[in-house]
Amino acid sequence: MIDLDGVVWLGQEPIAGSAEAVARVRATGHRVVFVTNNSAARIADQEEKLASVGIEAGGDVINSAGAAASMLEQGRSALVCGGPGVVEALEERGVEVRREGPVDAVVVGFHRHFDYAGLRAAHAAVTGGARLIGTNADATFPTPDGPIPGAGAILAAVATAAGIEPEVAGKPHEPMAALVRSLVGAEELTVVGDRISTDGRLALRLGARFALVLSGVTTEVGPDADPTPDAVAADLAELVDTELADGARAGHQRSDAGSSGAAQ
Ligand SMILES: [Mg+2]
Repeated sequence: MIDLDGVVWLGQEPIAGSAEAVARVRATGHRVVFVTNNSAARIADQEEKLASVGIEAGGDVINSAGAAASMLEQGRSALVCGGPGVVEALEERGVEVRREGPVDAVVVGFHRHFDYAGLRAAHAAVTGGARLIGTNADATFPTPDGPIPGAGAILAAVATAAGIEPEVAGKPHEPMAALVRSLVGAEELTVVGDRISTDGRLALRLGARFALVLSGVTTEVGPDADPTPDAVAADLAELVDTELADGARAGHQRSDAGSSGAAQ
């Protein structure tokens, strides 16, 4: 299970060697699924972007918008304070997307056109009784120029105004874990990501190995890392080099001695 932002690419720039690394993992017979907390883009756009960097991924992308939509039943209504990916996921779920008025839920995700009017509409809906659901709570979003404010910053604005604790759908929370389980079943799983608090904690929830790459938001692993990664590599290419070379590791979950603090 491979994260996208900070692992496969940074913004619009592919991370060198990632496409080849995915191909090499697949060549060994392993399935690869892409799991992203980015809810702004539609699934087809993510699949297209993956294809543009040389990775065919039709049907293998899960995003936090889908996880958020899974928290609402068909026929419910929602106000979207997010991007097209959120609208797509809600409509596919059979949730009515409204621009204003009373709704069952406000769904907040990353979007670059967030403004005071949007904050005000979301606040009004939540104080009117709507659930506040964040697609994800990532404080930042990795780009080639460094981190920029992420969905968590926008969600915090709405939550602060409304004075309530939001429900969060994406990594590392249960709605996303359930989506992953529905796609990969009980197979032996390695989660590859660049953020310990989301990718690492999702791995913990899934009982999976966690491989941290330092090509995104995390540049070093401190002593207080929780969970401690089972593997650390500069990027996906280096990780796959190491993992495939260490054939003995296959078939043994959390066999790495360094994982003792994280093997729950
Ligand atoms: Mg990431």
